Parts: sequence; C-alpha cells; structure tokens
Amino acid sequence: MPRTPVVDQEACIGCENCTLVCPEVFRMQEEEHDGHSHGKAMVYNPTGAPEAKIEAAMDQCPVACIYWG
Ligand code: SF4
Repeated sequence: MPRTPVVDQEACIGCENCTLVCPEVFRMQEEEHDGHSHGKAMVYNPTGAPEAKIEAAMDQCPVACIYWG
C-alpha cells in the first residue's frame, strides 16, 4: 500500500508551494475563521503523484507541515 501524505492544517501558513510543486495531490481550500478567509493546503488525491514528487513538495514547505500519514 502506498504511503499517503498529510497536511497539518494548524501549521500550514497557506504559502501554496505544495500546490505548485505537486498539484496532482495538493490544493488550497478556503476556510472562514474570525471573519477572515485563510487558504490552507489539503490533500485531495493522496496517491496522485509518485512519492518522490510528493517528497519534493514536502521539501518546499517552509514550515515542514506535510508528513507521511
Ligand atoms: Fe501549507 Fe506547507 Fe503547502 Fe505552504 S507548502 S501551503 S505551508 S502545506
């Protein structure tokens, strides 16, 4: 069974790097909080790209909040 990535929603700062590096797996979601809209990344297709490409996205995350679940 392939490993699947997880985004720590609390830590994500919404920089969009992961969605640019690996759009097959990650996308941004909008979330209402205190009347403001904050973009957070989410995993919508955990097996949509080879592990190496997912790891490239992990490497590009400035707060290292993507990990293998
Ligand atoms: Fe969030 Fe990290 Fe993706 Fe940036 S790279 S949007 S901080 S999960």
